[in-house]
Amino acid sequence: MTEVTPPAPDVHPGLKSPAISFEFFPPKTEEMERSLWETIKRLAPLLPNFVSVTYGAGGSTRERTHSTIARLLRETDLVPAAHLTCVGAARGEIDEIVARYHEIGVRHIVALRGDPAGGIGTAYAAHPDGYKTSADLVAGIKQRYPDIEVSVSAYPEKHPESRDFDADIDMLAAKVDAGAARAITQVFFDNDLYFRYLDRVRARGITIPIVPGIMPMHNFKQARNFVTRAGTSVPDWLAQKFDGLDDDADTRKLVAATVAAGQVQKLAKHGVDTFHFYTMNRADLVFAISHLLGIRPRGTQKAA
Ligand code: FAD
Repeated sequence: MTEVTPPAPDVHPGLKSPAISFEFFPPKTEEMERSLWETIKRLAPLLPNFVSVTYGAGGSTRERTHSTIARLLRETDLVPAAHLTCVGAARGEIDEIVARYHEIGVRHIVALRGDPAGGIGTAYAAHPDGYKTSADLVAGIKQRYPDIEVSVSAYPEKHPESRDFDADIDMLAAKVDAGAARAITQVFFDNDLYFRYLDRVRARGITIPIVPGIMPMHNFKQARNFVTRAGTSVPDWLAQKFDGLDDDADTRKLVAATVAAGQVQKLAKHGVDTFHFYTMNRADLVFAISHLLGIRPRGTQKAA
């Protein structure tokens, strides 16, 4: 009888199922709010480590970010993480936002410099009375609230404004020295870029988790424009997979799930055990990809 070789497991056999976190953006309309809460209800039983809510460019969603975070605290067992940037606000205003978060029980902030007020590609000018850099913001939070966990950004392809990788990693090191506990990466599609960046970061003596940020491309064309402006390269092989699907949203969705699932499964096989998903406030692809990572709904969450 011939021996049958079992198929390779999806996740490294020695690993327990990975830890995950989800990113949402604050809804603009009542309908978007309803849809976000459906998404949260579907994803909550996957027991993410935390769920983060972004802060619109220039602080444009300050109140909406706050109210989404507050509702997460009130109505779910999830751990919310509030994004916060230095843009367009004096130090006192930012400190006030942090104080409000601390008062309602928020213990996790994703601290960022933010994009220039004139948009990506223009020169960044710090507010004259504001936090000058993301590292200053991290320090400002940690000095007053040591019990707030702070996550920061990381750029496997370096940030577009960084002179070179050394300058980029200098900033990451400064954020870690100021008290950052974890970095979440900008979206990337080529895993080699992540591993090469990780080698550089570890060679620099930075030991915090560098959690890969994964974005399922629900709408490839729109997402490509957005991520390219933020410095992420979109490989030709990826564009080719969506070729001819502009008017076929169903197939695009299947392709997007397959691509992102392939990416996380390969990362997991190489020992990556924590993932951050840019959900775009949609549950279906992220739920499917989490399932393929071996993550199953557990527990009863009181979400929404
Ligand atoms: P930093 O980490 O402070 O800097 C990134 C790099 O840019 C540094 O390594 C440094 O080398 C270089 N750099 C910084 N400042 C300068 C300078 N003045 N001159 C030259 N080089 C410089 N944006 C939002 O508005 N709201 C959000 O909620 C949000 N969430 C994000 C979450 C994640 C996980 C990531 C990866 C990004 C997010 N962003 C968000 C985008 C982010 O604000 C932009 O990429 C912004 O341009 C940089 O902010 P940062 O904190 O990542 O930068």
